[in-house]
This record gives sequence, C-alpha cells and structure tokens, in this order.
Amino acid sequence: MNQHTVAVLGATGSVGTQALDVARNRGYRIDLLSAHRNVALTESLAREFAPATVVMTDESAGAQLKTALADTKIRVLSGEEALLGAIAQTKAETVVNSILGAAGLRPTLAVIRARKRLALANKESLVIAGDTVMEAVREENVELLPVDSEHCAIYQSLLAGKRSEIRRIILTASGGPFFGKTKAELENVTLEQTLAHPTWKMGKKITVDSATLMNKGFEVIEASHLFATPEDKIEVVVHRESILHSAVEYIDNTVIGEFSVPDMRSCVQYAVDYPDRLPGVGKPLDLFALGKMTFEKPDREAFPLLSLAGKASALGGCMGAVLNAADEVAVDAFLHERIRFSEIADVVSKTFDSLTALKDKTSLDDRFAADAEARAKAAEVIANTQ
Ligand code: MG
Repeated sequence: MNQHTVAVLGATGSVGTQALDVARNRGYRIDLLSAHRNVALTESLAREFAPATVVMTDESAGAQLKTALADTKIRVLSGEEALLGAIAQTKAETVVNSILGAAGLRPTLAVIRARKRLALANKESLVIAGDTVMEAVREENVELLPVDSEHCAIYQSLLAGKRSEIRRIILTASGGPFFGKTKAELENVTLEQTLAHPTWKMGKKITVDSATLMNKGFEVIEASHLFATPEDKIEVVVHRESILHSAVEYIDNTVIGEFSVPDMRSCVQYAVDYPDRLPGVGKPLDLFALGKMTFEKPDREAFPLLSLAGKASALGGCMGAVLNAADEVAVDAFLHERIRFSEIADVVSKTFDSLTALKDKTSLDDRFAADAEARAKAAEVIANTQ
C-alpha cells in the first residue's frame, strides 16, 4: 500500500494536533502544515514531521518561525495568500482543513480547486457557504470527507443505501454540560462550568458552542449541505454516552448507524485511509463496559440556538454566515466575561433577526459581506446589553 501524503491546515489546534497524532501513528508523510500564530508548537511539529512547506497566516509569526527554522530545509511562508498558493502546489493527496472559524473558507475552496481530497474539520466552510462549497466539489469532482464525528458516521451509514432511499438523518448530540437545565437555571452558569465538557477534548470556542447547542445547530446546516438533505429531515437526538455517532433511517425502516469510542482521530483516519480500513489508532468499543445507551429529545426552549440554526438552514442565502459570525462575536464576548452564558443566545438571535433580508443574497462576496455586517451588528448588540 502507498504511504499517504497529507497536508494539515490549522495544525496547532485541537483537531490539527489529533490529525498529526494519526499521522505519527500511521506513518503518513506530511507535505504541508499551516498554523495561525503559535510559533513554538509549529516549530516543534515542523521539526518532527519535516514538511516541505510551513505557512503561518499571521505575518509576524511567520517571520519568527522563519528565523527559528533557518537551520532546516523547510520553506516557511507567511500570510493567507501564501497559504492559498501552498495549497495549490502541495503534493499531498489529502488536505485536512482544521482551521478555526470563517478563516477556513478560502482554504477549503483552494483545496477543492487544487483537486485534492478534502478532509473537512472546518464546519464553518459549510455553515457560511455550503452551496458554494458543494457546487465546487461537484465541478471539480473531488472527494469531501467530513472530519466531524457525526458527519463521518452519516457518511459511513450512507454507504448502505441510496440517497433516494433516505427517510431521515438521525444526528446525535451529547447534550453538552448543561443538558437537563432549564432556561432559568442557565442564567447562572459560569464560564468555568461551560468549559468542562464531559466527553470530547476540544478548543474553547467549540466547547462553548457545545454547551449552547449552537454546535449541533451548525452540524444540522453542515449535514444538510453535505448530504443534500433538507433540515426538516435531520432529527437531533440527545445521546449522552456519545457512542452512536449518528445514523441514517431508510424508507424500509432500517436504521444504519456508526458506533465507536469517541475519538476524533478515528474520523481523521477514516478520511485519509478511505476507502480502506486499517488498524485504528484509538480504543475498540467494549459494549459490556458501556452496558446501555439512552436517547432523549433536545430542549429547544432552553437551547434556542438549535432551532435558530434550523431556521437559518431553511432560509438559506447568507443566513448561515450571519449565524456563524454573530456566534463567533458572542462567544468571544462570553470568553472575555463581557456577557453571561444566557446572553450568547440573545445576542445571536437579535443579530440574526435584524439581518434576515440577507437570505436573498447568495454569492461568495455576499457571504463575506454578511459575515462583516453580522460581526458589526453583534458587537453593537453586545455594547447595548452592557
Ligand atoms: Mg461533531
């Protein structure tokens, strides 16, 4: 078997470091690494994996890394344009895009245009511009494999039937740290409680999004684009054990799901090794130790962002971009203790409701404009709540 050659974008983040752990375990060659500004970690990853090229999207971090790696043959570049150029030139067969936030969209499109397999962990690419991304995938005829446990599970479950035979997608949710709390109880939760996620090891932004269920809402939008399925055929089911990672129900009532120990590395491995299956880097599932699995309905009143995402998906146009931008600003304000937990949903909802006219805008430029407009509006809403 060929040794896979891989590029990892957003290499120093939570998914990026886990992707590199898979590379370490499975012996993938790394051709390209990118990071934003974590020079120390990028230097150590570059020395370990010896990629041809490393890109820091922050210019001054790039200059520092260039000095730090001066004794090596590694080419060090700086800035977003340099990253897009490096993607166009990489020898990698698969590019893992684990960049955080809206900054991942242009790299996603660059990977598709370079006709590489895209292992996509940057869900914002689909939330902001799912139509554009999926159209590019069809035009270039590239493989897009989701690196998100739920979507990886759905992808695998879909291999059991035809798209026309799907009745619904069952998207599982851990429920986050505040599952079972009422709207009133959520008024008093702290930042520290929010950042204590029971199952998944993740960055701060997505940990907060898991607590508000915004992350699950984004995943509904993500699934609707990836699998060309309207949001009313995607049912969110709370499954606290996080063992069934999602499932597909077919019209003959058969439900096909993917069960495994929660480990993001298995999604990365699946995306790189597909269509082969090779020995896993994580632990096997012990059903007797698990004992039982539970399933419950999400509380849409206590966690209104889940339904707001459904609305964004139904409205289409730039509403995903608006939702994502408003949430990025609101979560940042919460992480800096400028707003309370319950105010995240208020800020996002108010921003969303004031910009619904953007549902009729659909070009890529419109989406970037909507992103900027929603950020400004959300900042204004936050200023008014203080
Ligand atoms: Mg997920």
